[in-house]
Amino acid sequence: MDDKISNLINNKNESGYKNIDKEYKNTYKDNIGRIVKVAGPLVVAENMTGSKMYDVVYVSEYKIMGEIIEISKDLASIQVYEETGGIGVGDPVYLSGMPLVVELGPGLITSIYDGTQRPLNLIYKKTGNFITRGIQVPAISREKKWGFIPVVKKGESVSSGDRIGYVKETPLVKHYILVPEGIEGEIIEIYDGEFTVEQVVAKVKTKDRIEDLKMISTWPVRKQRPYCAKLNPNMPLFTGQRVIDMFFPLAKGGTACVPGPFGSGKTVIQHQLAKWVDADVIVYIGCGERGNEMTDVLMEFPELKDPKSGRPLMERTVLIANTSNMPVAAREASVYTGVTIAEYFRDMGYSVALMADSTSRWAEAMREISGRLEEMPGDEGYPAYLGARLASFYERAGIVKCISKKEDKIGSLTIIGAVSPPGGDLSDPVVQSTLRVVKVFWSLEAKLAYTRHFPAISWLNSYSLYNDSIKEYVEEKIHKDYFQIQSEAMSLLEKEAELEEIVRLVGLEALSGPDRLILLAAKMIREDFLHQNAFHDVDTYSPIEKQYKMLKTIIYFYQKSIDFLNSGVDIEDIENMAVREKIARAKYIENDNLEKIDEILTEIDNEFKKLKAKNF
Ligand code: ADP
Repeated sequence: MDDKISNLINNKNESGYKNIDKEYKNTYKDNIGRIVKVAGPLVVAENMTGSKMYDVVYVSEYKIMGEIIEISKDLASIQVYEETGGIGVGDPVYLSGMPLVVELGPGLITSIYDGTQRPLNLIYKKTGNFITRGIQVPAISREKKWGFIPVVKKGESVSSGDRIGYVKETPLVKHYILVPEGIEGEIIEIYDGEFTVEQVVAKVKTKDRIEDLKMISTWPVRKQRPYCAKLNPNMPLFTGQRVIDMFFPLAKGGTACVPGPFGSGKTVIQHQLAKWVDADVIVYIGCGERGNEMTDVLMEFPELKDPKSGRPLMERTVLIANTSNMPVAAREASVYTGVTIAEYFRDMGYSVALMADSTSRWAEAMREISGRLEEMPGDEGYPAYLGARLASFYERAGIVKCISKKEDKIGSLTIIGAVSPPGGDLSDPVVQSTLRVVKVFWSLEAKLAYTRHFPAISWLNSYSLYNDSIKEYVEEKIHKDYFQIQSEAMSLLEKEAELEEIVRLVGLEALSGPDRLILLAAKMIREDFLHQNAFHDVDTYSPIEKQYKMLKTIIYFYQKSIDFLNSGVDIEDIENMAVREKIARAKYIENDNLEKIDEILTEIDNEFKKLKAKNF
């Protein structure tokens, strides 16, 4: 990458915007492309010799950003990230010679960016409701000063990935400054104080020169950030949502997919995850179709509170939102921008959760661009590389040993992708391609939402492939019969589904005692355990110990009931036991008062004893 171009691109004009204007044209006169075709978000230009795949270019006098996605002889096809109205044949295309990069450094947290990392809140302040086409605003403020606190001393040797200091970016996030890739040497200067991101905070003497370290860096979005080693995802990532943690758990560094038909509680579940997931940093990518879907997110997110600290959730969140004036191609950029920012925080040794909503909109963008490139269509018109693209995105998740020779840093990036198949149809190619790569599937079902069962995650169709990998951790930290309880409960729910058919045909009374008991226990699991009210102060979050105790109580009740049924107690007496009310209300027991749930076990024993005395 030519320093001159990068300097020019980063130069600001009087109004503070990055400006690539006059000088740029003068320097690269010979290499200005000319548009020969415009088709929606796709522009084809000639005289593009010297450009490379995925290079960023600036189209027309508006300087609209685009990315080269196909090259043939001196022709390049460019996907453009803003409206192409008014752009025509013969208009210029300026080459930047560099790929799409994100800026990384203090200032990311609490930001709301568009797909190409333009800060929407700053743009709004400058231009109001409408984004001027081609406007370039630095993603990270160059003026703001941050208090840098060093964690290494003069004379220490450091190498790539080592933390040299941190900035208290928000009350919730310590933003570590790492030694950039490829630098190894001795710290000869390190400063303590207030700095802008472009000021030097340390100097490192490498083998052949002295490197100035600043707080800002850049990274090409399509390139995975490196790590030392990928580890086995054997730590659960608890979310406080019972159906998820107890039945379909996620692992730190894992991948999950949640399809969300309209009205099925997709927004609520996403907010719940953002609030309660056991992660240090949240990156939320909104790929909405309609402007108002995105507005909802933009309005609601800043209102959310981090439940643990009571501070705004935004203080550990980065939001990326496609604005409605951006054409489909920008969705692709937003997905890569988001995942790169998430990897950056992972590299500091954090647990990061990334939510992408919805990946279907991104896939539709791929379909549109591919159609315009006249590529051979695959399933339902999606390009043949749909699966590969989705896979390479989810591939960036993982729990890793971060690069650093100094310390053992473990960071994780967990990706949760929402999918919105048309009509909730799970045979949709995007759902199917996603299921091939993700390890957890939470099937949100409209029919559960109609019956007001929330979260509307189907217990019959969902799955998690992390049960085995987190087994050791969970059995040691929570309880050794954790998975026994889980599988017992699951098998009751499955049997209930089989019995329902029979009940429909012959009625409940025709069932045998044990079968009625199965139905009773399954109902208790559904209503007293799986059902969780996101809007109830206590019920909104269940720590894993509470979840375990609640489910254990129900299973204990069921097992006792079998014994007593076999010894002649009437099924209706069991159905009418008073302790059932206590079991049902266990979800409202305060999280610091969990021994109250243990007491229910004794009450179950006592009531059964009384029942037996009455019967015999
Ligand atoms: P979607 O985004 O899929 O269209 P929402 O997330 O807006 O659906 O949910 C629709 C409604 O369902 C919410 O307004 C709320 O009343 C209810 N709901 C969803 N999830 C829950 C939950 N976990 N607890 C209580 N109510 C819920």
